[in-house]
Amino acid sequence: MRTVVIGGGLVGLFTAYYLIERGVDVVVIDSGRPTSASSAGLISPTFSHRLLHRLREMISMMMRFSKVVKVSIRGLISNPSWFLRLLSARPKGVEEFVKLGDLSLNLYEEFFRREEVDVDLHRGIAGFYWSGEEAEKEARELGGRLIERDECMDMGFRNVEAGVIFPRDLSINPEKLLTSLRKIIEERGGVMIHGQASIHVKDGAPRVSVNGREINAEKYVAAAGSWTPKLLKHIGLKIPLIPARGISILYDVGGADIVGVPGFLEDLGVGLVQHNPNTFRVTGFFELAEFSERPHMGRVTWLEETAKAHLVNGARLGEGRVRVGFRPCTPDMMPIIGETPDVRDLLIASGHCRLGITMAPGTGMIVGRIIAGSSPGIDLRPFSPARFL
Ligand SMILES: Cc1cc2nc3c(=O)[nH]c(=O)nc-3n(C[C@H](O)[C@H](O)[C@H](O)COP(=O)(O)OP(=O)(O)OC[C@H]3O[C@@H](n4cnc5c(N)ncnc54)[C@H](O)[C@@H]3O)c2cc1C
Repeated sequence: MRTVVIGGGLVGLFTAYYLIERGVDVVVIDSGRPTSASSAGLISPTFSHRLLHRLREMISMMMRFSKVVKVSIRGLISNPSWFLRLLSARPKGVEEFVKLGDLSLNLYEEFFRREEVDVDLHRGIAGFYWSGEEAEKEARELGGRLIERDECMDMGFRNVEAGVIFPRDLSINPEKLLTSLRKIIEERGGVMIHGQASIHVKDGAPRVSVNGREINAEKYVAAAGSWTPKLLKHIGLKIPLIPARGISILYDVGGADIVGVPGFLEDLGVGLVQHNPNTFRVTGFFELAEFSERPHMGRVTWLEETAKAHLVNGARLGEGRVRVGFRPCTPDMMPIIGETPDVRDLLIASGHCRLGITMAPGTGMIVGRIIAGSSPGIDLRPFSPARFL
């Protein structure tokens, strides 16, 4: 059995990894610059428990034109039905989403035990809050350990009232994980092709072309992140998935200890993560329907100043390297995982929005199970492509 996976972000690569484990021949086609590489690298199933709360929060932030959640006018005009669906969405399937997060965490743990990879793994991440009461509530509801302001300072974070340590969540350097996975896949016989794939349908089944040649397989997986709608549009499949642009700034801190734990400023949606003694990352912004690779310089400045204002050693951050990424978001904030109803042998694995790093192994494992004809192990109805197609 052969499967072509279109998209070499973490979702596509973990799909390939688990397919190879099942003895499937895999070809991964990727056109480069995955959003996965720009992410903060937080593996946080704890966030999946807050989906309901987050969806409401995001809508209210959009309404208030908050600093960190932006909606471009062009994005609004070109995707009115996406925004209408978001406003009327009643999150369904939170339980299954939580299961997908837990499955992914277990798979990450197993992956790190089995594979010899250096991905700057840290155990435990922290959320920081302006309100001590909010921190207490989060610690109580999500099972974290509350930390007072002094301990936050000791960990390198200032201008926050309190924090919560989530001990089971993890942090990795996403670029290193992508590199390790590509290497493992190739060493185990998987084929990686660099290029822009296109799909057409012949006799009811998909055909994929890349770099001027057709690559045939028994199954095809569209794991092209925010570009999945563009890929599927040509075969008449319209999925409501739009990009939410984020900014990622990488600093070489030359061995300086900036923080003692990977952290997230909960009130601002800013990630502050030290991957290793030299690499420090700042992430932020959620700009809906923005596909431009050029970041808004005012936002980059705001992000840098915000990071420095919240880090005890913020002055150690020098010149940063700026990248952007595009979170693939559906209007119900649920991923799309499963077979397409009208085109046989074609699966979609996309739409993980803010949690694609967290949910990638579980998604890959489930796609592998579907292709192998075994039970997915989770009720996939909330993630079904059929809810949109
Ligand atoms: C600033 C920022 C911080 C984030 N932090 C976190 C975090 O801490 N934790 C977390 O869980 N999530 C985080 N996310 C979200 C996460 O990065 C995404 O959900 C995840 O990367 C999506 O992975 P993916 O594999 O679906 O897509 P991508 O990583 O975008 O990969 C898709 C790939 O498909 C390729 N492709 C597209 N079209 C084609 C085609 N036609 N042919 C061939 N290849 C194609 C693209 O080139 C790309 O390489 C963050 C996102 C951003 C922007």
